[in-house]
Amino acid sequence: MSAEFADEPPLHPETIAAQALGHIDRETGGVVPPLQPSTTFAREGDYRPIRPGNIYARDDAPTVRDAEAIIAALEHGKEARLFASGMAAIATLLRAGAGAPIAMQKGIYYGSQLFAARALAGHGVEIRWFEGGDLASLAEVLADGAVRLVFAETPSNPWLTVVDIAEAARLSHAHGAKLAVDSTAATPIYTTPLTLGADYVVHSATKALNGHSDLLAGVIVTADPSDPLWEAICRERHDAGAVLGAFEAWLLIRGMRTLGVRVRAATANASAIAGYLSGHRNVEIVRYPGLAAHPGHAIARKQMTGGFGSLLSFDVTGGAEAALAVAGRLRRIVRATSLGGVETLIEHRQSVEDPMSGMPGGLLRLSVGIEHVDDLIDDLDGALAPLA
Ligand SMILES: *Cc1c(COP(=O)(O)O)cnc(C)c1O
Repeated sequence: MSAEFADEPPLHPETIAAQALGHIDRETGGVVPPLQPSTTFAREGDYRPIRPGNIYARDDAPTVRDAEAIIAALEHGKEARLFASGMAAIATLLRAGAGAPIAMQKGIYYGSQLFAARALAGHGVEIRWFEGGDLASLAEVLADGAVRLVFAETPSNPWLTVVDIAEAARLSHAHGAKLAVDSTAATPIYTTPLTLGADYVVHSATKALNGHSDLLAGVIVTADPSDPLWEAICRERHDAGAVLGAFEAWLLIRGMRTLGVRVRAATANASAIAGYLSGHRNVEIVRYPGLAAHPGHAIARKQMTGGFGSLLSFDVTGGAEAALAVAGRLRRIVRATSLGGVETLIEHRQSVEDPMSGMPGGLLRLSVGIEHVDDLIDDLDGALAPLA
């Protein structure tokens, strides 16, 4: 897709996304990549595929490949593979890496923790947990040289822990391990982990990449397609079949065209809301890497270029009962899970996690959208005021 731009300097992510990597459909002149829903592809009389690579849609499909090329370019990677959901991508990566102990960051996306603890540890894979905000704990679990794959998430969901990607990569490589980073909350607008030394980037493309809360997708990007782990990932996708459908891939391409403006608008709103919440008497703590008081702020400033994203969480005074009451009083912000969409969503995490997870009762996670920020702050203000 990118042949027209092959000789030019790297483009900004906004440009790659808005132009769908400069796509022009050579059949028609269309400036939008075509949707090709076929599951199977015809062969010539001598049995060669009509188009090399197009055989069957579980192997590889043209519209999915177009979306993968855009995401690989956004992440400064060489290749990307889309999956049926973010968890399908993460599960594939972890299963492909499960021949040795895996180091997993604590307190990350709940689904990733569950998959590691149940599906992997339950089948005898050793999981070694470390603190994303304290990489001495990573060095400790890597010390015996047994770990081959490190899985981190920054900023993490819902704790907003910031992991120093360059340092985590240095430690991983020094001990013979690969580093994978779930960069869903950062988005390629603000962080490109491969340029900081990570080996793999993962996204739930359900979130900001698509941005419209209307499809599930996941993606893994690599800088080195010759890595045996990448080969295992591609094999696993093919053999286990957790592929993305063509319609979803096409919608994802459409959603990504506005990635730059969506992410920047939502981030400006999130930043204003974090400031507002920090000064509120009924709010005990605000977790947002853009706040100077955030423990990961200095690292975030170093590795997040131009913004800190649209995800934050805060604890209200009065615990679970008060937090549920605040969420219940909101009139415009929607009570729902997920993040990265154009609409603002709030979630009471303790209500959806196992009691063992230690989630504070007062914690509310906010995924900020692109509405007018005054409407959002008014809504929060009305919901928080009766706590006093
Ligand atoms: C949502 C999410 C996932 C899982 O993605 P799905 O598309 O819901 O399967 C993984 N990581 C993070 C950080 C997420 O927010």
